[in-house]
Amino acid sequence: LTFEEANLCQTLNKNIAQAGYLKLTPVQKYSIPIILAGRDLMACAQTGSGKTAAFLLPILAHMMKDGVTASHFREQQEPECIIVAPTRELINQIFLEARKFSYGTCIRPVVIYGGTQTGHSIRQIMQGCNILCATPGRLMDIIGKEKIGLHKVRYLVLDEADRMLDMGFGPEMKKLISCPGMPSKDRRQTLMFSATFPEEIQRLAGEFLKPEYLFVA
Ligand code: AMP
Repeated sequence: LTFEEANLCQTLNKNIAQAGYLKLTPVQKYSIPIILAGRDLMACAQTGSGKTAAFLLPILAHMMKDGVTASHFREQQEPECIIVAPTRELINQIFLEARKFSYGTCIRPVVIYGGTQTGHSIRQIMQGCNILCATPGRLMDIIGKEKIGLHKVRYLVLDEADRMLDMGFGPEMKKLISCPGMPSKDRRQTLMFSATFPEEIQRLAGEFLKPEYLFVA
C-alpha cells in the first residue's frame, strides 16, 4: 500500500513524499484506516515501527480536510489535538514530525516539556496551538494554570503508555481525562500506543477508550 492509496489528503501526500516515505509500515497500514474511520485504537507498537506517523497522518488529514483557514487556526489556545509522551526526547521527535507533515498549512504544532521555564511553554501556546505535544507533568501544570482550553480537543493520543505508567505518570493520565472541559470519551477520539500490553494498560484502555475500541498488534 502506498500513501497515495491511503486516502489521506493532497497537501499531506506532498509532505510525505518530501519526507521520502514510499510505503506504509505495518502499524501504519493497520492503524491509519481505523483512525480515519473515527474509531478509538489501542496499538501495540515499538519505537522504530513508524507509530508516530501512524497516528499523526490520519489526524492531520482530518484537520486539513476540515478546511484549514488562517482565521480558524490563528492565535487559538484551544488545541484540537493533544499528544502525550513520557520523555522530552520522544515528545520533541513527535513535534518535529508533526511540524514536517503540517508544512504549508495553517496548522501550528507546539511542544512543551518539563525542565524548561513554564513561561516559555505558555508563550508558545499563546502564539497559537492546534496540536499540543506535551510531557504529562508539564501538561498538567499548564492546565492547572488555565492557559489552554480543552473543549475543542477531538484527538487525544497517549504514546508509550506503558512507559508513562512505569515512570509514575498514571495519576497524571487519569487526571487529564477527567479535567474540567476535557470532552468525554464519547466526544473525542482516543488513541493509545504501547510496546507492551500488561493488565494495567488494559485497565487504562478500558477507562480511556470507547468500549468498542479496536486493537492492533
Ligand atoms: P517511529 O517508530 O515513529 O519513531 O519512526 C521511526 C523512524 O521511521 C522515523 O525516523 C520515521 O521518520 C521513519 N518512518 C516512519 N514511517 C516511515 C515510512 N512509511 N517510510 C519510511 N520511513 C518511515
